[in-house]
Amino acid sequence: MGKLALLGGAPVRTRAFPSQNTIGAKEKAAVIEVLESGVLSKFLGEPDQDFYGGPQVQRTEQAYAEYFGAKFAVTTNSATTALHAAVAACGLGPGDEVIVSPFTMTASATAILMQNVVPVFADIHPQTFCLDPEAVRRAITSRTRAIMMVDLFGQPAHWDEIRALAKSHNLKIIEDAAQAANARYYGRLAGTLGDIGVISLNYHKIIHCGEGGVILTSNPELAERAQLVRNHGEAVVEGLGLSDITNTFGSNYRMTEIDAAIARCQLDRLPGLFEHRERLAAYLSQRLRGLAYITVPHVESNVTSTYYLYAVKLCPELGVSRRTFVRALNAEGIPFGEGYVRPLYLQPMYQQRAAYNRGCPWTCGHYQGSVSYAPGICPVAERMYDCDLIVGMVCHPPQTEADMDDIVRAFDKILSHLQALRSGEAEGAHEAADPDYRSRSWRR
Ligand SMILES: *Cc1c(COP(=O)(O)O)cnc(C)c1O
Repeated sequence: MGKLALLGGAPVRTRAFPSQNTIGAKEKAAVIEVLESGVLSKFLGEPDQDFYGGPQVQRTEQAYAEYFGAKFAVTTNSATTALHAAVAACGLGPGDEVIVSPFTMTASATAILMQNVVPVFADIHPQTFCLDPEAVRRAITSRTRAIMMVDLFGQPAHWDEIRALAKSHNLKIIEDAAQAANARYYGRLAGTLGDIGVISLNYHKIIHCGEGGVILTSNPELAERAQLVRNHGEAVVEGLGLSDITNTFGSNYRMTEIDAAIARCQLDRLPGLFEHRERLAAYLSQRLRGLAYITVPHVESNVTSTYYLYAVKLCPELGVSRRTFVRALNAEGIPFGEGYVRPLYLQPMYQQRAAYNRGCPWTCGHYQGSVSYAPGICPVAERMYDCDLIVGMVCHPPQTEADMDDIVRAFDKILSHLQALRSGEAEGAHEAADPDYRSRSWRR
């Protein structure tokens, strides 16, 4: 094994890793069919049949509901808007708190804030990176109304414990399964594990239609309220004869007919795409597992993951900084980045409590709590962000076992040359070797 690429040796690989492209002839034909129909969206914010969207939207919702085993699917133009509609549909508002992970894409918590509800961050489990049931239990107050469960990196974890907590405290569970399409928890598909769930159809996720989201629920009232928030509810509630109209005023979160047609083609591809990811991740983990100083992704028994990102933990005994380790990987041609996201409460918005004017929702007269966003409140999430975790955009099609072999070769090479990396680090040599290095951003 030659010299490390970071120290001037030949890299393990120079070819870029193939990025995911799930779009093919079926999507193209479906889009052309919609274009030829001339109907690119049929939604109207009025209490008639067009309130539910055009033929593509309705067929797609039917297909998703059937596939996922939910009574209702409500499409939207993103998972971000879908999450907001879900929070609103649950009847949450000023004075309420929702418990959420800080180690997630920013929209999980913003969806809560958008409804003037206070996000309360509980720490994650160090093996699954999902909410730790014990931390959630400690975060429950008399104001807690719901738990937002994020199936991070595509793994639904600790659901039995969380469901038990929710039941005993009478809380709703909103599932952010944006990264987890087709993952299962004891046979049930992610997105259907709580009272209401959301998957994302954005370009970076398991399947996509450009931008899009799907709300899944088997509760007819939640489905109807989400539909109202999606489509100008305030103009529709009278015509529909609704009595409880709070939280039903809406926006335009509607999916287009083109996106709906693509989303239905993508659903057909979902099992195959998922199987590909699972197979490559199992192969990669099996080969990396024997190496010192690293821990491969842990997936609980009776659970499957999409491996939206492939997350590896570095041991403190490694003796080189995470930054140097990732630079060394990148120099070998392997696309890994550091840390996933900064715990959300460390964002300026939470630190300054600057969401709405006058400090709302935290200073709202209805809010009697005193949530903390102080650094240190979720030590596990902070440790993952600061030093333990590296994440790779790998395992997705069209990558192959040969690509995984290169990843293994690079890890193996670096781990066999730790002494050289350690002395280089002491001399500051790596900074000079790679002046263009910047930490990759994994916020998608
Ligand atoms: C991507 C993502 C979202 C937002 O999805 P969009 O469709 O881009 O709005 C929300 N939550 C998580 C965990 C995500 O990864």
